[in-house]
Amino acid sequence: MDKTLYERLEEDVRFREGLNSCMNCGVCTAICPAAEVSDYDPRMVVSLVQQKDESELEKLLKSNTIWRCGECLSCKPRCPRGNVPCYIIQALRALSVETGGTQRFEKNEKYSSAKADELNIDFNEGKDDYFKYLYNE
Ligand code: SF4
Ligand code: SF4
Repeated sequence: MDKTLYERLEEDVRFREGLNSCMNCGVCTAICPAAEVSDYDPRMVVSLVQQKDESELEKLLKSNTIWRCGECLSCKPRCPRGNVPCYIIQALRALSVETGGTQRFEKNEKYSSAKADELNIDFNEGKDDYFKYLYNE
């Protein structure tokens, strides 16, 4: 029998390292620079993944959500439960590529965040500007 998406995620050491038990506290989202400038929400990702709902996992793997994390690892030391959303995201990205579900940042993707407008950052130029902002380049 084919493995489920969740079982395939569990084969990834980053996933096993990254997911303990999420209590939905939102600390990761509060400190996440990607969440600050877009509608990305690491809490939602972790919470959704731990529910092991295959149809939701499939949707997540096909979404742009998993490509919004800047892999800054700010979330690693902050989670009170020892989760690392960044590692979970890395495992999700790998599985998304494997399963053909990936939709990387589109050049002209529009970011809806009001914060982006406030910061006067032109995200319509694509991910390069986004990562420049994240890493202060
Ligand atoms: S900080 Fe940890 S426990 Fe809190 S929402 Fe994020 S992953 Fe879950
Ligand atoms: S590694 Fe990703 S999820 Fe974690 S704080 Fe940085 S941008 Fe947010």
